[in-house]
Amino acid sequence: MQTIKDKSWHSLSTDKVKEALDVPAEKGLSSAEAAARLEKYGRNELTPRQQQNAFIRFLLQFHQPLIYILLAATVITIFLGEYLDAVVIFAVVFINAVIGFIQESKALKAIDALSKSMALRAQVVRDGKKANIDARELVPGDIVLVQSGDKFPADLRLVQLRDLKVDESALTGESVAVEKDAKPVPEDVVIGDRFCLGFSSTLVTYGQGRGIVVGTGDNTEVGKIQKSIAGAEELQTPLTKKIKKFSHLLLWVILVLAAVVFGVGIMRGESAAEMFMVAVALAVGTIPEGLPVAVTIMLAIGVSKMAKRRAIIRKLVAVETLGSTNVICSDKTGTLTENQMTVQEVYAGLNTYGVSGLGYRPEGEVTANEGSDNPAKNKALDLCLKAGLLCNDSTLKQHEERWEIEGDPTEGALVVATRKAGFTEEALEQEYPRLDSIPFESEFQYMATLHNTPRQPVIFMKGSVEAVLERCTHMLNADGEQEPIDKERISDQVNQMGGKGLRVLAFAMTDAPEDQNVIEHESVRSGLSFLGLQGMIDPPREEAIKAVKLCQQAGIDVKMITGDHAVTASTIAGQIGLKGKTENGKLVAITGRELQSYDDKELEEIAESMAVFARVSPDQKLRLVKSLQARSRIVAMTGDGVNDGPALKQANIGIAMGITGTDVAKDAADMVLTDDNFSSIEGAVEEGRGVFDNLTKFIVWTLPTNLGEGLVILAAVALGTQLPVQPVQILWINMTTAVLLGLMLAFEPKEPGIMDRPPRPAEEPILTYPLVMRTLLVGTLLLLAAFGLYIYERRVLGASVSEAQTVATTVFVLLEAVYLLNCRSLVRPMQDIGYFSNKWIYFGIAAMLFFQAVFIYVPFMNLLFHSSPIGLNSWVRILGAGAILFAIVSVEKAIRFKYTKK
Ligand code: ADP
Ligand code: MG
Repeated sequence: MQTIKDKSWHSLSTDKVKEALDVPAEKGLSSAEAAARLEKYGRNELTPRQQQNAFIRFLLQFHQPLIYILLAATVITIFLGEYLDAVVIFAVVFINAVIGFIQESKALKAIDALSKSMALRAQVVRDGKKANIDARELVPGDIVLVQSGDKFPADLRLVQLRDLKVDESALTGESVAVEKDAKPVPEDVVIGDRFCLGFSSTLVTYGQGRGIVVGTGDNTEVGKIQKSIAGAEELQTPLTKKIKKFSHLLLWVILVLAAVVFGVGIMRGESAAEMFMVAVALAVGTIPEGLPVAVTIMLAIGVSKMAKRRAIIRKLVAVETLGSTNVICSDKTGTLTENQMTVQEVYAGLNTYGVSGLGYRPEGEVTANEGSDNPAKNKALDLCLKAGLLCNDSTLKQHEERWEIEGDPTEGALVVATRKAGFTEEALEQEYPRLDSIPFESEFQYMATLHNTPRQPVIFMKGSVEAVLERCTHMLNADGEQEPIDKERISDQVNQMGGKGLRVLAFAMTDAPEDQNVIEHESVRSGLSFLGLQGMIDPPREEAIKAVKLCQQAGIDVKMITGDHAVTASTIAGQIGLKGKTENGKLVAITGRELQSYDDKELEEIAESMAVFARVSPDQKLRLVKSLQARSRIVAMTGDGVNDGPALKQANIGIAMGITGTDVAKDAADMVLTDDNFSSIEGAVEEGRGVFDNLTKFIVWTLPTNLGEGLVILAAVALGTQLPVQPVQILWINMTTAVLLGLMLAFEPKEPGIMDRPPRPAEEPILTYPLVMRTLLVGTLLLLAAFGLYIYERRVLGASVSEAQTVATTVFVLLEAVYLLNCRSLVRPMQDIGYFSNKWIYFGIAAMLFFQAVFIYVPFMNLLFHSSPIGLNSWVRILGAGAILFAIVSVEKAIRFKYTKK
């Protein structure tokens, strides 16, 4: 693979750059040339960053306190001449590292896939035509177009730009946007001052630009420094950190305890070797070292479950937080509604007209409503419809029988309406060739275009009613004459249309000076003539209505935050079933402008009580998130635009739209919806709750074992008996049960009614009081059973030490298997969740029993683990203990569940 010669592209004139890269000026590369260059220079992707070397990652598995203890134990047992024990302990350490390594790799892979699932696209000019291609196919010399919201897909030498501002923090760490300029700069300036270059993976926050690709893949600035940025996905979440901290704390407590036990034993005159083994057993048995890994795995499983429900998780934390989300702030258009717009009503020259037909098929008619004049005679109507098509960047395409929109559905609806009135794109574009445009941005709420006409240039504008009316001084009457504007009348009409749930756009035009050929925001500041309104329906999504209901049952508030008009927003919100402050039975919508007048305290109250926020600008979204958080809300917030970045980052769960969202929004988000659909958020919340449930089940299942083992050893020391379970046996229990039994809880399906209970308070500990009590209860039962049966075997039946220890070990294994069934639900009895709803559980238990039989009856294992074959009677007693444990926990659950239900 070749690389293009590294030149100081920033110091060359654009002509030199074109020459050096052999770019045909306007037409761009030909497809053939592009293919040849792709062959020559390779794909535009970064060589995957050398993941931390696998061997090092494996070695790091040994970097854990428990392992240190075990390694020390290995060495000391060698000194004590217990070679077999040394081998077993070391083998366990090794196998543990292997398992940890494999599981971690799996989780890493799952999470790695997340970032890759969102391929970047790029707008290029090839063969003289614009095309949207996979950014990985860009080659040096390609002409690329970018606009606000895009990520630079490669390193570009900018040749033409307009107000282009770029967030280069990914590269330079500087978060203030840089204003670009196509002029060359001196050769020796630093990267941040190379204003005529656009760097791969930096974000366009404003304006538009056009540039020539000068670097792709590893040959970009990002490629060169890639090691320092965007490291591997973070595998740690607050939860795993908490657990790690907890187990480290526990470690010290246990080490101290072990030291005390050791000291007491020595003073009593026990041998140091014996006491050392006791201390090791205590440490090994009581430290829940497998916990952090298990939690990570369970979270990773959650990631893939959510992906199946069309929510792509970008940060692992999101899985955890989703379970406790208690308010969702959602966009309206496209998320709660279909974004399948159809113009149904037009208002122009003080007359109203209906438009028939549904969807994007351009078949239908414009007819006068009662009391209105013939549409053919209305000049204002004529221009209003034309403006809808001319001031528009979207196109209508027919694929066999289906009509589709390329671009924005709002604009698509306007094209369709104009077509229904009998105009065609070709004819209009000939009549009014476009000279320049200001594309739509949420922040300004309008779009304007400049067109040439034989008479003189004219400007068409469309946008929100407020944005357009503010700039109008006149209105056109049906005869096409200018009259002073009657804003009150227009606004009555807007309310009427909004009340039907129509999304209303306003249209205006003005003449431009003879020589004008570019258009600025300044050109449309004032003095425009109002042409009319077009109202389109955007029906609520059926799924969204259901999902909103589910969320409300689940104690999650849903709020609508939209750029649309207040009346339209409140009508649609009503149809969707949002709950909030109402007046005369209608939801009250508060507008961005009103929000501005409130201070932070007042805003908190409003954010809490209201459900509909209209004409909201991105910075107000940020304020709303903060207000909700000030009241300890866990906020999920959707966004798609460039300016939504800060709000998405601030929200506990930032959700970007996969289809309509900009790269900037996706970059800031924790989660991306592949279908832009509200119901996918609800789905993710459901999965999040399920994952958290299963995590809790795992923890509740695993801790009593550690507790029980610790208690058994302490009891033995206190009573001066031999250890009922030896260190290697404890290792056996902990290793096999965690993998074969515990992890099967990850496959536990969501509990019935998971969306009927309130969200988990974020500050609530995982182990709530009842769960702590259960842990103590089960730990104690394990102690009684293991110690009791050990003593019984020894004293009453006169069994050998190794037989009795085998029984005690089997007690732990079997009781854990039984308790696993209890743990399938934290509060419900098994018949409620279905005996066979998780088949893995039985598979795990069967496998566990098989291995335990091997442990007991295979001579080689007897040698390794000091176990001995035990008789049927012993099994029966152990099973009896299991049955008792199951019964006690079931009763405890029944009592407590009834208690919590009321
Ligand atoms: P939302 O999608 O939530 O309605 P936006 O910020 O996208 O919010 O749009 C705000 C307002 O701007 C819309 O209500 C509409 O009046 C107007 N608008 C939307 N899209 C366009 C467009 N492509 N051109 C002109 N105006 C538009
Ligand atoms: Mg929109």
